[in-house]
Amino acid sequence: MNKAALSVLNTVFGYPEFRSPQDEVIDTVINGGDALVLMPTGGGKSLCYQIPALIRPGCAIVISPLIALMQDQVNALTQLGINAGFLNSTLDNNQAFAVEQALFQGELELLYIAPERLTQARTLSMLQQCSIALFAIDEAHCVSQWGHDFRADYLELSLLHQQFPSVPRIALTATADPRTHQEISERLQLDQARHFIAGFDRPNIQYRINQKHNGRQQLLRFIRSEHEHDAGIVYCLSRKKTEETASWLCQQGLQALPYHAGLAPEMKEQHQNRFLREDGIIIVATIAFGMGIDKPDVRFVAHLDLPKSIESYYQETGRAGRDGQAATAWMVYGLQDVIKLKQMLDRSEAPDMQKRIERQRLDAMLGLCEITTCRRQTLLGYFNEHLPQPCGNCDTCITPVQTWDGTEAARKALSCVYRTGQRFGVNHLIDVLLGKSTAKVQQFHHQTLSTYAIGSELESNQWHSVFRQLVSRGYIYADMDSFGAFKLTEKCRPLLRGEQSIELRKDNTEKMKKKKASKSAAAVPEYAQPLWEALRALRKQLADEHGVPAYTVFHDATMMEMITIRPENREQLLNISGVGVSKLDKYGEQFLAVIAQHQGN
Ligand code: ADP
Ligand code: ZN
Repeated sequence: MNKAALSVLNTVFGYPEFRSPQDEVIDTVINGGDALVLMPTGGGKSLCYQIPALIRPGCAIVISPLIALMQDQVNALTQLGINAGFLNSTLDNNQAFAVEQALFQGELELLYIAPERLTQARTLSMLQQCSIALFAIDEAHCVSQWGHDFRADYLELSLLHQQFPSVPRIALTATADPRTHQEISERLQLDQARHFIAGFDRPNIQYRINQKHNGRQQLLRFIRSEHEHDAGIVYCLSRKKTEETASWLCQQGLQALPYHAGLAPEMKEQHQNRFLREDGIIIVATIAFGMGIDKPDVRFVAHLDLPKSIESYYQETGRAGRDGQAATAWMVYGLQDVIKLKQMLDRSEAPDMQKRIERQRLDAMLGLCEITTCRRQTLLGYFNEHLPQPCGNCDTCITPVQTWDGTEAARKALSCVYRTGQRFGVNHLIDVLLGKSTAKVQQFHHQTLSTYAIGSELESNQWHSVFRQLVSRGYIYADMDSFGAFKLTEKCRPLLRGEQSIELRKDNTEKMKKKKASKSAAAVPEYAQPLWEALRALRKQLADEHGVPAYTVFHDATMMEMITIRPENREQLLNISGVGVSKLDKYGEQFLAVIAQHQGN
């Protein structure tokens, strides 16, 4: 263990110990080696380059695509007493000049640069004249051409290796799939690097996936009953839907803001800043939102539409609970989502090879939705990680799912698709099965079919569930060329011939058992509520005075520890996780004063 590194962790960051594998990564980089770090969101990637930056001579260059967040990252470091700056297109010439001077004078410990700026000849020649501690390549999965975060500028970053062969490089990402891992390694020429893969489990996140009936209402009920006044992110597939959902939530009395790539840049920035700075804001967003958002106290991530892959799902849900406190990943999905995503894939103009990969990814995602065993075991298994026991903190663990022998029902559903000529969608098929006499039934004489009225043992919503599971598992698909009509696939044959049976999921219609565990404030005992509120108010006041987000003053977890330990002096306060010397000097007295005022309760 590197003593200097541990001492920086204790005094500057105020944390007692490293999380695995931070210490090994830091040791590697301090000693001049390259590193490729795969760690889940919230795992603590930043320290892996920030501590070597403070220990190695020279300035560390951090390459990040997230221009809008650089100011916050630099502010957070300033709070810790660290000299840092950034160079990107938001600075005017004078400001950029001042930063460059600071760099030349050797005053900066860390400098954040956007990739397109770094690769300019001018920047490179400037860096050649300075002492560089290391290059940190954040969000390294942006070099991957398959991912949705691809940035062409990232491809050029291999020049770092060529132009600065003796400067160590550390690439970091939260995207864990082996393919992306391989691509990062190749494209950034990290063949000599040590690879570090941290465990991907996020035990504080409760995973829940439900059937969609009325998505918005379900969402509202979820927020009201478990996350009133909490910060959260709601993901939707389309821009329009983010706006509609946000304004609907506002009508219901919640504070919700939309975010998508089509909004004006000022608007995006404003919404993002409010989300970061204010308490209890809900962002309703497309996948354009989230990368690099390091707000630690996001208490829930909700999906109103199905994500395209487990990678995306895990990355998006991973934005909840970075502070390690209880958080919820909540999702509703239905047959229409499955059909829509499959259609989008079919229509896309991507090369066949990529389509095939994306289809496999979607199938894996659907598999996760439909499983009847522990969600976390499946999720982690997807990233090649083995969880020996069911987790106890996902919906299927908390309320076990019943299954039923759906062989007979599936056969009826499939023959109905066949007998009606593979030309109809789910609603008409269910009408036929239930023996309804609709205009469409009349028009096509479907009352004469052998499958007419053979399905009265199930209700309409149960048939929906059967069809959804048949589509999810690839027995039928919605054909875009004939207006989304269901068609049979090869996979049906053994089932129709009676050579195979099928277990189906009984959808949980009842609500989750009331569990208030996810509420952030719930962990504070009743008698300590006044102190908790006072600490929050002080934090808010200090954050406003310094123009920084509240969590960069202290995290919830740090204040929670203050409530338990009740420090009476500076030494005791410094012992609390998250309190380092700089924050002790800045804020210590005021926090101690508030704690002293609440002696005895
Ligand atoms: P990532 O970039 O991997 O998503 P961060 O670097 O933002 O994660 O770290 C997530 C949170 O965990 C931050 O609030 C950070 O201060 C905290 N953290 C990181 N390392 C430690 C540690 N060794 N002990 C306690 N907290 C830590
Ligand atoms: Zn589980």
